[in-house]
Amino acid sequence: MHEWALAESIILTLVEKAKSENKNVIESVEIVVGELQGIDIEVFEFALNELRNLAKEENNIIIKNFRIVEEKASFRCNRCGYVWKLDDTSLSAEARESIHFIPEAAHGFIQCPKCGSHDFEIVSGRGVYIRL
Ligand SMILES: [Zn+2]
Repeated sequence: MHEWALAESIILTLVEKAKSENKNVIESVEIVVGELQGIDIEVFEFALNELRNLAKEENNIIIKNFRIVEEKASFRCNRCGYVWKLDDTSLSAEARESIHFIPEAAHGFIQCPKCGSHDFEIVSGRGVYIRL
């Protein structure tokens, strides 16, 4: 799935960053993965490890430690301002699956637990980013 592509772009970003700073060691990196991204963490971690070894062989860039942190999804209602988490909603497995593929699908399945509005923002839990 997309775990490999994601891992590849992360390693590539780190390699480029190290190169631009004339470093060959990156001590530690935190990779934040949004809950809505629907990533298989085990596959992702495996891919990162493999590609990290490749970065060392091909570019002589050593990425010492990485940690994957899952960011929980949260939402804010545009009508009443209420904030809630994905865990607070009862979703079918099917709905969860759809949301993992298309976070925007959340609007079809989730509504504000307080006022029932479907008009809300996704505050956190989307995308993948790197924290150094
Ligand atoms: Zn509301």
